[in-house]
Amino acid sequence: MRGDKFIASLDDGRSVWLEGSRIKHIAGHPAFAGTLQTIKSLFDMLDAPDLREQVGYELPGTSCYAHSSFLVPYTLKELKKRSTAFSRWSAETHGMMSRLSDYARSIVTGWYAAREELGQLDPAFKDKIAAYYEQARDNDLFLTTAIIDPQIDRSSGLEDERIAERFLHVVRESSEGIVVRGAKMIATGAPYSHDFIIFSFLQFESTQRKHAHVLIVPADSAGLHIVCRESFADSRERNHPLSARYDEMDAVLFFDDVLIPWERVLLYGDPEKVLALRANETVNGLAFHQNAVRFVAKLEFVTGITFAVADSIGVTGFLHIQEKLGELLIQADVIKALIASAEARASPDGAGVYVPDLNLIETARNLGTRYYPRAIEILQQIGGGGFVQTPSDVEDFYGPISGLMHRYFEGANVSAEKKVELFKLAWELIGSPLGARHQLYERFYAGDPVRGLANHYLRSNKEAWTEPIWRLLQDNSKGGDRKVK
Ligand SMILES: Cc1cc2nc3c(=O)[nH]c(=O)nc-3n(C[C@H](O)[C@H](O)[C@H](O)COP(=O)(O)OP(=O)(O)OC[C@H]3O[C@@H](n4cnc5c(N)ncnc54)[C@H](O)[C@@H]3O)c2cc1C
Repeated sequence: MRGDKFIASLDDGRSVWLEGSRIKHIAGHPAFAGTLQTIKSLFDMLDAPDLREQVGYELPGTSCYAHSSFLVPYTLKELKKRSTAFSRWSAETHGMMSRLSDYARSIVTGWYAAREELGQLDPAFKDKIAAYYEQARDNDLFLTTAIIDPQIDRSSGLEDERIAERFLHVVRESSEGIVVRGAKMIATGAPYSHDFIIFSFLQFESTQRKHAHVLIVPADSAGLHIVCRESFADSRERNHPLSARYDEMDAVLFFDDVLIPWERVLLYGDPEKVLALRANETVNGLAFHQNAVRFVAKLEFVTGITFAVADSIGVTGFLHIQEKLGELLIQADVIKALIASAEARASPDGAGVYVPDLNLIETARNLGTRYYPRAIEILQQIGGGGFVQTPSDVEDFYGPISGLMHRYFEGANVSAEKKVELFKLAWELIGSPLGARHQLYERFYAGDPVRGLANHYLRSNKEAWTEPIWRLLQDNSKGGDRKVK
């Protein structure tokens, strides 16, 4: 089964650091074991005859299945197949695992799909991406992105030597490849990824060629260190059902003179070309589509938990509670409607690839930065102090105070034990370290949310909005001709 193959493949000598130690065997460490079991079960879906069509597609001329994030959609049906696969994995993990590699795989698929156009940036790009795409697809490679440069001093840029030497840059070139030094700020899922997709969001000057690159870096590269944040994993499943299964680790990457072979250097040395690659709409449309689909599962999960919490304490009859529960339903409906419209409005690009309407997908991503914190706020408002009126361990239901536990934790219409389990599940979202990380994630994963919304304005056709206003004012000044033209 490919889940086992995936886990075994992580024993490749990569340099993963946690709590001051280098972790030799990732799968055996409690910080990763639960999460890897989750990923294993998702990978195994591709080998299950009754499930594989939901998440994968048969490679032409073979009986092998690949994950649908690798499917280049030349029809609307194929675009929907991608969407179904994103949705299926997200539903399995309640949207709590956002970097299951289907996002980063979609970037690679987008580069491959747009290879003719992107090949104009660099003739070598086309063959490099075709070879890598096939390798990643056929070997189920787990990929993640590391894009943002370290948060050192955001008031300074590459003109400041202190910043320039810490941001990832090329220090040497040779016949084998380029040698890079510096750091990348966050790569979610890094300890168990095979390869990192690396580029930067910097607005480069034309002279800043050493910092301008697009790379695919193997996790076991010599000199690459994966430095994990504190683990939020907790193996006590009944008390911490989400932390036990879904702590997708975030890590900083240190590149201590890492050799990147030329075949993994997709672009280098030309800031304008890197910017053009980054802005490619086929790539962004296919990749950001996954973000929006995954988010639906999370909103639905929070909505379901909030409904159950409200029910369990008997507050669903109150008007302001109904108003808040209605707001949650509207949030989920809005994102679902945006995705449905983006898919319905998908049109083939120059190469015949069906790309969802990027503007609507971006709207969904931008709304998500506000919807998720609001959803969590509603859950808090409805559950009140109930979230801390829980025992430290459900085991108390089986000990000497069992009778009292059953009496005093009883819910409006649910047993004491189920109510405690429900509130512990909800606490995972609102109060645990994992839950706090998720709020931060939804605010920031798509980039700085301020810039995200501002970009929406900047990309808009402003004249289309203002023209009717100027026309109305012009009509007024002519004496108010209100006839419909
Ligand atoms: C949980 C989590 C997981 C993540 N996973 C990944 C991942 O897997 N891969 C990846 O590439 N990235 C990942 N990210 C990084 C994410 O993309 C960034 O957090 C996001 O782009 C914002 O950048 P920043 O965090 O550096 O914030 P900053 O850019 O440092 O912003 C901090 C604050 O300063 C303000 N600010 C900064 N610069 C300016 C300016 N010039 N003008 C005005 N205001 C400014 C911002 O508006 C913001 O309020 C992750 C982030 C989180 C929180």
